[in-house]
Amino acid sequence: MAAAQDRETLSTDVVIVGAGPAGLAAAIRLKQQAPGLGVTVVEKAAAVGGHILSGAVMNPAGLDRLIPGWRQQGAPSGPAVTSDRMHFLTAKHDFVAPSALLPPQMKTEGTVIVSLGALCQWLAQQAEALGVEIYPGTAAVDLLTDADGRVAGIITGDLGRDRRGGEKPGFARGIALAARYTLIAEGARGSLAKRLIADFGLDAGKSPQKFGLGIKEIWEIPESLHEEGRVDHYLGFPLDLGTGGGGFCYHAGNRRIYLGLVVHLDYKNPTLSPFDEFQRFKQHPSIVRLIEHGRRLSYGARSLTSGGWQSIPDLAFPGGALIGCAAGFMNVPALKGIHNAIRSGIAAAESVAAAISAGRAGDRLDDLQQRVLATGIEAELFPVRNAKPLLSRFGLIGLGFAGLDLWSNALLKVSPFGTLKHRKADYAALRHLADEPAKRYPRPDGRTTFDRAASVFLANIAHDEDQPVHLKLADPKVPIEENLPVYGEPAPLYCPAGVYEVAEAGGAPVFRIHPANCVHCKTCDIKDPAQNITWVPPEGGSGPNYSGM
Ligand SMILES: Cc1cc2nc3c(=O)[nH]c(=O)nc-3n(C[C@H](O)[C@H](O)[C@H](O)COP(=O)(O)OP(=O)(O)OC[C@H]3O[C@@H](n4cnc5c(N)ncnc54)[C@H](O)[C@@H]3O)c2cc1C
Ligand code: SF4
Repeated sequence: MAAAQDRETLSTDVVIVGAGPAGLAAAIRLKQQAPGLGVTVVEKAAAVGGHILSGAVMNPAGLDRLIPGWRQQGAPSGPAVTSDRMHFLTAKHDFVAPSALLPPQMKTEGTVIVSLGALCQWLAQQAEALGVEIYPGTAAVDLLTDADGRVAGIITGDLGRDRRGGEKPGFARGIALAARYTLIAEGARGSLAKRLIADFGLDAGKSPQKFGLGIKEIWEIPESLHEEGRVDHYLGFPLDLGTGGGGFCYHAGNRRIYLGLVVHLDYKNPTLSPFDEFQRFKQHPSIVRLIEHGRRLSYGARSLTSGGWQSIPDLAFPGGALIGCAAGFMNVPALKGIHNAIRSGIAAAESVAAAISAGRAGDRLDDLQQRVLATGIEAELFPVRNAKPLLSRFGLIGLGFAGLDLWSNALLKVSPFGTLKHRKADYAALRHLADEPAKRYPRPDGRTTFDRAASVFLANIAHDEDQPVHLKLADPKVPIEENLPVYGEPAPLYCPAGVYEVAEAGGAPVFRIHPANCVHCKTCDIKDPAQNITWVPPEGGSGPNYSGM
């Protein structure tokens, strides 16, 4: 947190960090409520949507509230979901759960398959038509604070620093963007959100936030295998009994499937590699048959929140609020967060607009939390609150308990388990190397399974190598001196993009970082067992350029 000092300072009424569904919904609602307000959105991707990665089967409840008639207005929606199956996989077999057994909270009726990146581009156009100013290629790297320590806007990143921090030709210093209120819509594990939560104690009395890493590919498959609108979710293989998560396959339009695996980041085995688990998932007979004659079009990865109800922090801080997955409104059993991100953006915008019209600025918006939760978020997340803790405690066996709990909530509105807490943060779940069996993964076949380098190529990364490293080690000795002997240094395994490497130099191990590969998933910031790695935004416009994710 910093003062503007001698930076150029621009002013607006509301600044929003992040052009995802939460940030864009807030921007649109602010203008719908008070067209005269100055609303500015900054987005670190080179273009809106470039860093957006989701499944995605969308519950339209959020968008219906924000822009009624969005379909008729040309929003880029994919097919409506026509069928929805939950599978349990063993290494060779595939058992489909009878639909009647599935708790209603996990069903996808009325939902639609979307590319969230494309939807965000359309939302950005709607926002701009209302007068919102959107600045892509602009990372918010710090919070502007006033003399009383209240948040008073943001500071954007410098452009044109070299690797050592020196100024290159064309250097442009980041500016201060002062605002009456600041909304943080950075998505899961936001870098500013992390600092705000710590500095203002927003998580006091809450369970630690939990996360998953989602890895996704888009494939074009033969017409004969494609069933537009079909949705499949998979539990079991390839994940072992103690590891949470599951696969998904959504049949979008144009012979495309959205194929992915989410691995909960409270996994215990330090030799587990989510990237390689995803390759194994694609080798299952039910999946490989779809893609063996197909063509892989895109690759990407992003973390998601999975703490749910127990982990929602206080949203408001003096001068602004957290919205969307920066706070964490993901419904884990349903694997849906887009509608709640939009709902939270709408409610926060209404709270901010009311405060500004009453002449207020920079204070804590006391009504905001209740407004956000009353949008349907509490009604949805409270009844599913025990699903994730039961999975964390009992692994796959916890699925049975979670099913019982969900049904009990659906039918009787009570939970036999009360409200279970999340016991520890994800990084603390890792066990020592000596206590876990070493996992070995097969070599990729180059047809359906791939290595990290070939995959990252499909994320279309743009990253000037000559800029300061954005993966900050609090202590550069920790990876080799502490993590390596105890955990085998898990960073090269949990990173889905090949950023980290343990190499050898002069007969001794060395830890190397290749920042140009980073896809901004934030897993290292979450999972490093020593909490020694801090992810900060690189120069604006760096990172993946996803199209259609
Ligand atoms: C693999 C996967 C599958 C999923 N499947 C589904 C699904 O099927 N259905 C569903 O409803 N939900 C799904 N979700 C969850 C859903 O994607 C999220 O709930 C939703 O995207 C959250 O929206 P958001 O606006 O809060 O954050 P995001 O969508 O993450 O958007 C945040 C934006 O802020 C930008 N940003 C971040 N930090 C900064 C900064 N400091 N400066 C400038 N810009 C910044 C980012 O670049 C990004 O554009 C899935 C998520 C994942 C990862
Ligand atoms: S370096 Fe960190 S944020 Fe970047 S891709 Fe790897 S794990 Fe994700």
